[in-house]
Amino acid sequence: MSKAIVSSLYDSEVFRMACRQFDQAADAISLPDAIRDRTKYPRRCLAVSLPVRRRDGSVTVFEGYRVQHNLSTGPSKGGIRFHQDVTLGEVAALAMWMSWKTSLVGLPYGGAKGGVIVDPNQLSEGELEHLSRRYMQEMVNFVGPQVDVPAPDVGTNEKVMGWMMDTYSNHVGHVASAVVTGKPLSLGGSQGRREATGAGVAYLARRYLEDLGLPITQATVAIQGFGNVGSETALALARAGARIIAISDYTGGIHNPRGIDLARALEYVRTQRTLRDFDGGEAVTNEELLELPCTILAPCALERVITAANAPRLRCRLIAEGANGPTTNEADRILEERGDIELIPDVLCNSGGVIVSYFEWLQNLSNFYWDRDEVLTKLFAMLDRAKDAVEAQRRKFKFSRRLAALTLGIQRVADAKQSRGLFP
Ligand code: NAD
Repeated sequence: MSKAIVSSLYDSEVFRMACRQFDQAADAISLPDAIRDRTKYPRRCLAVSLPVRRRDGSVTVFEGYRVQHNLSTGPSKGGIRFHQDVTLGEVAALAMWMSWKTSLVGLPYGGAKGGVIVDPNQLSEGELEHLSRRYMQEMVNFVGPQVDVPAPDVGTNEKVMGWMMDTYSNHVGHVASAVVTGKPLSLGGSQGRREATGAGVAYLARRYLEDLGLPITQATVAIQGFGNVGSETALALARAGARIIAISDYTGGIHNPRGIDLARALEYVRTQRTLRDFDGGEAVTNEELLELPCTILAPCALERVITAANAPRLRCRLIAEGANGPTTNEADRILEERGDIELIPDVLCNSGGVIVSYFEWLQNLSNFYWDRDEVLTKLFAMLDRAKDAVEAQRRKFKFSRRLAALTLGIQRVADAKQSRGLFP
């Protein structure tokens, strides 16, 4: 009999959502009780206090986490989020999704995630550097190229990864590029990593549109979140001929049915840091953006934005989940019942990021670097294989696409744990 005695530490709305997804998938493949809970719950976590000296001389202590969900299939892998609403439960849910994602696309990794409760927009560059370095200093004995390999997520970027790589390298006494991915090119970053997640979202969206017989040149696109994933998704889809009619960030959104000038929007964000008051269209709220009529809706910000309240009102043909966990369990059910919207689930849709992170790690370990074409060709080939596997699973068992993707990912982790025995 399954007797879970863990989870109170992680209890939160988003962790329960990830658990419900797991339970549904585990039921669908009749995962034996003996393996269920140890596949489901995170292996371990570390919580740290991070004192940072501020511009005015005072000291602020931030709280940070790293959750390693699964280490049975390889070093764990997953981003680090800097956001004011981070909780341990959210980090655990994101770590869980990383396990299914790396497994689904066939990478030799487990899953992990990190987070710090901080609004990075309120920090100076110097404060951000101190916080990033202090976080890695506390993680030195918990991560490593063969143990756990962080990457960027919401609120972190190449620069942060560079500081973290430098901090770790100073501790171990040699250059250890492979300890994090998403680094600047000058520190062993990979060609194509910055755009990898968005390029992958756009590639899969195009492939699914082809399956639906809809030409990309007639497609309209609404994107929530205009950071790394959202902006790169927008650029890649626009290059392919689609019209980007709405974009947004945490300050709100812009809607322009004639198409948004992305180059201007990017330049605006580079200088102003947000889209607030950008004059490229009508202002809309993030909630309104989700309900705009469009061909592709790409949530590329935070979790749980497509809910039971707005799922009945969505007017898109395809949802491409650039973000992790954007759709609640209830919304999933409603969309399935509606049957008129296709959904590319997060673990497949945004896996381009971790795939090219894997390429970066391989290049660091071998000290042999690839060109951009090679990176992108290999990325798209892996996405094709993952898509084909998901579609085959879906047809074979009549699963939803999310259930198909999750069952494939979960089965591989469970198989590895079964083969290794109880210890790992
Ligand atoms: P980012 O920090 O570069 O960008 C986040 C964007 O979301 C910003 O434009 C921000 O203003 C916006 N945002 C924040 N809060 C918002 C809110 N409440 N409403 C609307 N917009 C809001 O982060 P990112 O790396 O682009 O990550 C975005 C999503 O993609 C996350 O769910 C992340 O886990 C997922 N993801 C990222 C990667 C990666 O390689 N960076 C890979 C896979 C998945």
